Amino acid sequence: MKIEHIGIAVADMEQAVKTYEQLLQTPCYKKEQVASEGVETAFFQLADSKIELLEAMNEDSPIAKFILKKGEGIHHIAFEVEDIEAEMKRLSALGFQVLNEQPKRGADNKLVCFLHTKSAHGVLVELCQEIK
Ligand code: ZN
Repeated sequence: MKIEHIGIAVADMEQAVKTYEQLLQTPCYKKEQVASEGVETAFFQLADSKIELLEAMNEDSPIAKFILKKGEGIHHIAFEVEDIEAEMKRLSALGFQVLNEQPKRGADNKLVCFLHTKSAHGVLVELCQEIK
């Protein structure tokens, strides 16, 4: 439907929030921990899409591994979908590698699932559906 948000891996959340508040001229409107992923998130609203900053809460977090390998930077692009399960089925049937068997609960009141970077030319894709 649209780019819901772009996820950016950061090493120092406090510093990154300051930087993005200056850059975007808008305050961070929400901070939320997703314990299952070992991440702390911070969101900025930009018209009808968002920036999500992600900081690792521990060494096992995918964000910690990402930063170790690649450094800070764009981590994923999230596309909003209306029916996440239907999209997961549609994309697996087309040969996309869907990384979750079931949608899981993500930050910001969303059901989410990820597609392998190999399936999208090096980009980690998140599908997300608003929980109503
Ligand atoms: Zn995300």
